[in-house]
Amino acid sequence: MTDSYAVFGNPIAHSKSPLIHAEFARQTGQEMVYAALLAPLDGFREAVSAFRAHGGRGANVTVPFKEQAYALATRLTARAQAAGAVNTLQFEATGMLGDNTDGAGLVRDLVVNLEFSLADKRILLMGAGGAARGVILPLLEQQPASVFVVNRTSARAVELVNHFRSLEGGAPGFRFAASGLQGGGYESLAGAFDLVVNATAASLAGDLPPLPEDVFAPNALAYDMMYGKDTPFLAFARARGARTADGLGMLVEQAAAAFELWRGVRPQTAPVIQLLREA
Ligand code: NDP
Repeated sequence: MTDSYAVFGNPIAHSKSPLIHAEFARQTGQEMVYAALLAPLDGFREAVSAFRAHGGRGANVTVPFKEQAYALATRLTARAQAAGAVNTLQFEATGMLGDNTDGAGLVRDLVVNLEFSLADKRILLMGAGGAARGVILPLLEQQPASVFVVNRTSARAVELVNHFRSLEGGAPGFRFAASGLQGGGYESLAGAFDLVVNATAASLAGDLPPLPEDVFAPNALAYDMMYGKDTPFLAFARARGARTADGLGMLVEQAAAAFELWRGVRPQTAPVIQLLREA
């Protein structure tokens, strides 16, 4: 039987993951199929169980099920543990491994595709939701000078920062110094940043978080996790001389990391990013 994988979400019809994984499979000669499956809002666990019972080997998980996938996993990678969210499940003989490849996807897009080294950089991360949680540990592991988490609801940013600080030097697998990690509301922002990552849902609504005029340092990069259209954040950044990038590369890179976990082979991402851009 052909190995079968799927992405679970609600909604899911818009997902580009089936196209991405089909390209990876074609490129690497892997015999597998990958589908987008709509799970009922109150039926994620049952949907995954049914897929597994029909021979599924693993799954990706997207909004709004990443926390439920975390709870479902019987074993977690360090980065999934830290994030409190799982976007990749690998079914095992007795149970399932939960991983979170979102942060690794972002870091690889930044460092490899965009050739933007994170070492010693001042990073501003906007948002304190699931996307922000997933990327903090991989960002810290790149040894930036600092990471400031800013959020509309400042208490959520502070809570997130306290969570990651409590992990510092904790379990094996956490190799970072959280001392440069701080958080607060937009009114507390001061100074310029080398990298500003938009991990809020503001772009979905065509909104721009209230950033100070002088938020970008010279040669700064503005990265919006949203993809598929220009956003007020990227327009704001461009008008202030910053270099800009959308989240399409992150999407493809997080998929590549999941594919590698499942199949033991790393696909090439550049041609797939290009294919999606042309589409
Ligand atoms: P959540 O709903 O978990 O979090 C939303 C965050 O956005 C919260 O911090 C919220 O602040 C903030 N926010 C919402 N509206 C505004 C606004 N108008 N101004 C300022 N802040 C706002 O969403 P996720 O974290 O799951 O997703 C965030 C974005 O990241 C989405 O656009 C998603 O598509 C994208 N994403 C992209 C990925 C990729 O591979 N490229 C992967 C994962 C996510 P508050 O706490 O105050 O409500």
